[in-house]
Amino acid sequence: ARFFAVEEPLPQSKKILKAFAAECLPAARFGDYAQALMDLGATVCTPRSPRCPLCPWSKGCLAREKGVEEALPVRQKMAKKPRRKAFLFVLSDKNGRILMQKRPDKGLLAGMMGLPVTPLNDSKPLAWDEALRYAPVLRKGWRLLDKVVHHTFTHFELELRVAVASTDRTDRKVASKVEGIWIARHDVPAQALPTVMRKALKTALEWQED
Ligand code: SF4
Repeated sequence: ARFFAVEEPLPQSKKILKAFAAECLPAARFGDYAQALMDLGATVCTPRSPRCPLCPWSKGCLAREKGVEEALPVRQKMAKKPRRKAFLFVLSDKNGRILMQKRPDKGLLAGMMGLPVTPLNDSKPLAWDEALRYAPVLRKGWRLLDKVVHHTFTHFELELRVAVASTDRTDRKVASKVEGIWIARHDVPAQALPTVMRKALKTALEWQED
């Protein structure tokens, strides 16, 4: 982009850049050429503050000639991701086991093991009393933790509030009611939980240990 002073932003300029790159290919010793380019990019024509006076290509470089080497390559500004909010529920039984659920087969984190949670990608944030509709088993006795868990998905940023509660009931009925499964605390690390669930669970367990 600098050598040919391509001012069109990336990624749209990729096609032009590829064409210029093809033009510059030597007739032989491609490996040495590629290595030399990488060395130049790592030591002289660095992403920030290129060291043009030391550059063996400075004579033919159009960016240098125009004085725009610091401004190139241009990257298109990324659109800000929408922000979503959700609530996640960590229910423990009297033996310290944690209620987990397999996620639905469709949608975000499909089919993965998880914790009961309100819809993750809902553009309309739920109020806490509405979120309780998604709470497993208990409607009362939940404690909403202050710490907010942040997670970035490909298309949105998630702010997750974690609620914790415990129940005296250990029977299978509790779990089957919400298609859940009680997992012993020492078996939790072995579960293939998505990162966002791990972060939320860590927040809950740290709070319980305090
Ligand atoms: S002269 Fe400067 S901008 Fe041009 S290739 Fe060399 S280091 Fe990069």
